[in-house]
Formats: sequence, structure tokens, C-alpha cells
Amino acid sequence: MSYVSERQHRRLAANVAGSFYVNSACIDCDTCRQLAPDVFREAGGYSAVAKQPGSDSERRQALQALLSCPTNAIVCEEKSGTAEVMEDFPLRLDEGLYYCGFTSPKSYGGSSYLLLRPDGNWLIDAPRYVPHLVRRFEQMGGVGTIFLTHRDDVADAQLYAERFGAKRIIHALERSAQPEAEHFIEGVADVQWDADTKIIVVPGHTRGSMVLLYRSRYLFTGDHLAWDRERGMLTAFDDFCWYSWEEQGKSMERLAAETFEWVLPGHGKRVHLTADAMNRAMRRLVEEMRSGA
Ligand code: SF4
Repeated sequence: MSYVSERQHRRLAANVAGSFYVNSACIDCDTCRQLAPDVFREAGGYSAVAKQPGSDSERRQALQALLSCPTNAIVCEEKSGTAEVMEDFPLRLDEGLYYCGFTSPKSYGGSSYLLLRPDGNWLIDAPRYVPHLVRRFEQMGGVGTIFLTHRDDVADAQLYAERFGAKRIIHALERSAQPEAEHFIEGVADVQWDADTKIIVVPGHTRGSMVLLYRSRYLFTGDHLAWDRERGMLTAFDDFCWYSWEEQGKSMERLAAETFEWVLPGHGKRVHLTADAMNRAMRRLVEEMRSGA
């Protein structure tokens, strides 16, 4: 938890005065700006408090950000309310779909998700291993499968797998990140895992990046695809493409043929559109990647 004890890091000058602030431990992962967009702003390679929380809901969101920050860079000098806000996690996004919070520095603050399923819950990428989430996952039926989109976002997947006896799925080319995983996907062909679940291999960001499509509605995208809130369109990260931008463009073209309504990334903003609007957004992104814009 991020309280006054973390003051060995300096308070950033970009913060407005008040009890909430960001310190120099910030790694600019964007988690706080997504959870509390009215409070936190980007400020030259860091986040900073642009406005102290003014309402109960803003304070709650700011505390959610504090709990989810991977580096304990968010400080609140008034401790009240944090234990209650912890109970919000995992945060409900949709029926049976949750954002885990408690991001890990091992995944640079990557987002992870819990998907409730009648045949056993799935964790998509992994959060920090924290007792609160273990308890809540237990209450919600445990974790049967952990789908790992790529090597960067595994965080504490092994600890969750051991705790719940969960099966981990990762691409064979990402094996070094989770050598004891129970199932390795080979090659580049799509895998229809079951009637509801399709695994799509999308080389680009890394050689073995994969996305998970559930019921033609939820697409868990790792670092392949996200929403750009400034431009109001889907995006891919050419600055953080570790394998091949050309291959990522080809993977995006194949993905544009799929139907989905939600993009649930590891990094970058989540988005929910109608299937038609999502299809248009995908085609716009493909065109932009083709043109090199
Ligand atoms: S969540 Fe923490 S590390 Fe990430 S941008 Fe905010 S303050 Fe920085």
C-alpha cells in the first residue's frame, strides 16, 4: 500500500497541492489515468495529480488507482477508506468480466482480467499476487485457466497457477517467460479452444503474441491492440514493437476479419463499441498501418 512511508521518493512538482500526489517512483504506466481520469494526468513522462478528488466517486477512483499502481508511486496522506475500496477489486466491467487491478512492476503495470465461465474461470495475464485477490478469486469460484498473451505480461501467473491448480496457456515462442506452463501453443494457426473460445496468434509485438476471443464479444489483446483516447481510434504501439511491425500489420489484417465488441488490452485503454463500429475501427487502423501513417 502506498502511504507516507514511500516518501523516500520525491513528490513530483507537477502535482497540484493536496493530500494525493504522485512521486518519482512513477513509471508512466497509465493505470491511474485510466482508473481516475479526472484526477491524474500525464506530465512529461510521469503521471501527476492534476486535480485533487472533489467528490466521493473521484476519491474512490483515486484510491483504486493507488491500490493498482505497480510501483506504489501514488501517495495519500489521509489513509481513510482504502480498506473499503480494496473490496471493489476485481472491478466489474461487464457481466462475468472483471479487471483485476493490483498491477505488477514485472509487467510494467499491465492489465489483467478475470472471466467467469461455467466450466471454470479464466485469468487473462496476471496481476500482482496479493492476498485480497486470492481471497476474492476463491469466493468467485477460483481460477481454472490462465491465458498468457505474451512474455511481458505474465507477472505472478506462476503463483496464481500454484495456488489454484490452474492450467497456463502461452505460445511456445514465449516459453522462457513461463517454462513450467501446462500448455504451449505452436505455430501461427488459430486454435478453436472450445465452442466459445478462440486463440488467435498475432506475431508482431513479440513473435509469440496471442489474443483471446470469447463468444465473439470480448477480445483480450495483450500488447497487440488498444484504444487511443486522444485520437479516438484503435492503435498499436510501433514504439514498443519488439519483433516486427510488418508482421504486426499482417496480424492486424487477419484480426480485422473477426467479430468482437470489446478490446481489453494489457497496456493502453480498454474500449467497448458495437460490433459494426469495432469493425470500422479495425479497418481504419489496418489502413493506417498499411499506409505507414
Ligand atoms: S499507476 Fe503509478 S506508475 Fe502508473 S502512471 Fe500512475 S502513478 Fe505512475
